[in-house]
Amino acid sequence: MDNVTKNCQNCKKDFIIEPEDFNFYEKIKVPPPTFCPECRLQRRMVFRNERSLYKDVCDLCQRRIVSQYSPDKPFVIYCRECWNSDRWDSLQYGQDYDWEKPFFIQFQKLLVKVPRIALVQLSTNLNCDYANFLADCKNVYLSQSVVESENIFYSYAVDKCFDIFDCSQVKECAQCYENIDCIRNNNSKFLFRSRECIDSSFLFDCVNCQNCFMSSNLRNKQFVIRNAQYSREEYEARMKEIHPECYQDFINLKSEFSSLIKNGIHRFANLVKTTSCTGDNILNAKNVRFSFDIPTGENLKFCIRTVNLKDSWDVTGGITGELVYETAVAGHEGNLLCFVSNADILREVEYSDWCKNSSNLFGCAGVKNKQYCIFNKQYTKEEYEKLRARIIEQMKGMPYVDPRGTGTPNLRHIFR
Ligand SMILES: [Zn+2]
Ligand SMILES: [Zn+2]
Repeated sequence: MDNVTKNCQNCKKDFIIEPEDFNFYEKIKVPPPTFCPECRLQRRMVFRNERSLYKDVCDLCQRRIVSQYSPDKPFVIYCRECWNSDRWDSLQYGQDYDWEKPFFIQFQKLLVKVPRIALVQLSTNLNCDYANFLADCKNVYLSQSVVESENIFYSYAVDKCFDIFDCSQVKECAQCYENIDCIRNNNSKFLFRSRECIDSSFLFDCVNCQNCFMSSNLRNKQFVIRNAQYSREEYEARMKEIHPECYQDFINLKSEFSSLIKNGIHRFANLVKTTSCTGDNILNAKNVRFSFDIPTGENLKFCIRTVNLKDSWDVTGGITGELVYETAVAGHEGNLLCFVSNADILREVEYSDWCKNSSNLFGCAGVKNKQYCIFNKQYTKEEYEKLRARIIEQMKGMPYVDPRGTGTPNLRHIFR
């Protein structure tokens, strides 16, 4: 099969569907997309509010909470403890399928009434009430997208780190401040695109360095200042003359560092230990294309910030799993998910939001520990398969409605 050029139904620009894309759509049995990759990303990001947090009250226990939904939204918001408790049952919101109405109009009605969790926090997180998009963390404050980490403050995209302040895109770092796009650094400040560095500061594109200062493009060095080699004694003596704790000196050092980055040699992309990858900030990966911020992955396309995901297209956020498509927050162990958001441990799930520990769901919201549900209503396996197939058949005949034109309720507005 050759490349096929299509016109995006949203932005009206042409985009290309490649043979590998068709193979993937065939594998998971979805029709090729009608939106271009950028418009698909925008549609997914509507479901992902990482940083705008609001004061709110849990609608069940009335405790004061921090929420990613502003209080003027029509949603029912529960704190994590209440949502996970047995004090409510998502199946009590079950709806029969109405063949007179389009699927999405009915799905929206369900999404508005079923309780959702204030913040996206997967597995167990301790003392993390002011942080969003976490999994298995302890003591995280005003940070986003943090996985298996402890003592993290004001940081973004952090994996397996300890004692981190003001960092972005860091993996396996400890005791670091202002590290950006860094891996396995220790006790270091102001490091940019550097890895395996210890007791260093103001380094750009350095690898395996120890006690180095204000340098760029170093490999396996020790006692280097401004790209000049010193003995241990000289290094220690010279470092005593530098005072980043003095405000004016610090401002001067930051300005010097900016020039250093500008004049350093830049790699075309931050790709480390990768094979056949295109994008940026990708490591330990194979066949990852048009993707960004992938600490490990295989056979991915149009993905952002997924950890250890395989054979998936169009995923924003997810930890382990495979065959995931068009999903914002795939959670842990997402398998065969299509058009899902806020998932965790799901298998064979389509068009669902905030579901957990379940399989074979279609058009569900807030469903936990269930199987074979449509619009939060329980069916037998046979009933489920028949009804699902019939709904998909009906959806094929539905015309696309531009939500900006008519104000018709549509998934694209409901979180705005
Ligand atoms: Zn488009
Ligand atoms: Zn509560």
